[in-house]
Amino acid sequence: MEKVILTADRPTGNLHIGHYIGSIQSRVDLQNQGDFDRMYIMIADAQALTDNAGNVKKVRENILNVALDYLSCGIDPEKCCVFIQSQVPALTEMTFYFMNLVTLSRLKRNPTVKEEIKLRGFEESIPVGFLTYPISQTADITAFGTTLVPVGEDQKPMIEQAREIVRTFNSMYGETLVMPEAMIPKIKSQARLVGTDGKNKMSKSLGNCIFLSDEPEVIKSKIMNMYTDPNHIHINDPGQIEGNAVFEYLDAFVKKDSFEKYLPEYKNLDELKTHYKKGGLGDVKIKLFLNNIIQELLKPIREKRKELEKNPEQVYKILFKGSDQANLEAEKTLKKMKQAMGIDYRSDIF
Ligand code: ATP
Ligand code: MG
Repeated sequence: MEKVILTADRPTGNLHIGHYIGSIQSRVDLQNQGDFDRMYIMIADAQALTDNAGNVKKVRENILNVALDYLSCGIDPEKCCVFIQSQVPALTEMTFYFMNLVTLSRLKRNPTVKEEIKLRGFEESIPVGFLTYPISQTADITAFGTTLVPVGEDQKPMIEQAREIVRTFNSMYGETLVMPEAMIPKIKSQARLVGTDGKNKMSKSLGNCIFLSDEPEVIKSKIMNMYTDPNHIHINDPGQIEGNAVFEYLDAFVKKDSFEKYLPEYKNLDELKTHYKKGGLGDVKIKLFLNNIIQELLKPIREKRKELEKNPEQVYKILFKGSDQANLEAEKTLKKMKQAMGIDYRSDIF
């Protein structure tokens, strides 16, 4: 069986370090290992419109921003097909047929959608498109015969939903669609990076992000204002690690050589945590350490982005070429689906 990888991001803002650690890093690694047949990266503009219908301008502008972020992180359009969702009409048609295979109560049970509805304050005025976006996401995944989806933990229920739809479709109409699987980082703080507020998931829509394109002083100020342990008032007070955003970020981003480079008086993260818990280690010190690590990560990304920003036309060319290629592939799957369902009426006559 072919190995096909697909992931997507909503163009609702610039990409942040949660995207990087939850998904983009795995995509770049997979891309560079080359152990796949096809790889797709989709800018989910149609999905972004499900909760931004009145703000098309924002979605439109962020298509370029997200594409710039991809390329600056090392996504290589020679190896991956990078495309825009709305430019592949077969995805909408597939969604329409999948809608018949899912009940309203099943959609309402999705824990990520439930949380997003609450955070966006939709209450009873949820756009139908928003509630059904996991179905459209199933079309995005299955249209390309995707086997692997490298995502953050919030996407787990979406992949489960996609698997259910594939199972239902195949048992109803015959083996047609490929079963996808999620690939979620094993480290908890990477799978769901908390926001700088220490409360919610880092999320473009919540204003608790460190963006990949942030300037060094902005990054530093966001880190120095980060949530730690509210009871750790004096240096000598014992500190708490659980729920402490700075330690969650250290868990997610510390590298083998980070201590040697920036905090040589400690051997590793365990030693640093033990000291913090005991008391005698101040928040400023751990924040400055984290700042060094994040600055090192983001410097090359920001610099590459500045180069790419000079030539937006080139970026759009990549996206349109990718969209044409994605279109051909999605059309093939839609045709197979229609044949399996028995709605390929023209073939009865011609
Ligand atoms: P929005 O607020 O518009 O939903 P978002 O920040 O949640 O934006 P998405 O475009 O929905 O970002 O997600 C893109 C990808 O990044 C998905 O694979 C998702 O799982 C992953 N991701 C998003 N936020 C995080 C996070 N905080 N930690 C780990 N992975 C994340
Ligand atoms: Mg999201």
